[in-house]
Amino acid sequence: MHELSIAVSLIEAAVEAAANEAGTVRTVHLRLGALSGVIAEALESAYQLARVGTPLERAELMIQPVPVVVRCRGCRTERELPMLDALWCPACGAAEEVVQGRELEIAALELET
Ligand SMILES: [Zn+2]
Repeated sequence: MHELSIAVSLIEAAVEAAANEAGTVRTVHLRLGALSGVIAEALESAYQLARVGTPLERAELMIQPVPVVVRCRGCRTERELPMLDALWCPACGAAEEVVQGRELEIAALELET
């Protein structure tokens, strides 16, 4: 299960970061891009399993969805993609590149000290 291994490495990273702060993690804030290939609901349930027996056993996971943003290589305009359709600029027809939406990163840790 893809999400379980992601949840495990997420917890490891949070434990490591919290160790430097000498606190207990209360909430993990995660930025999750729509193109990350990870389903938020699946990651949440994987997290519930993976946190058992770790220092994050009572820490909550808050997932902030990050929408996909593309930029046109032609006219340089940026737009948000409501769903994953073709990466062609509606204005000039040039190819677009993804500038945001692949995120899978811890945005912040809330600690209890
Ligand atoms: Zn364009």
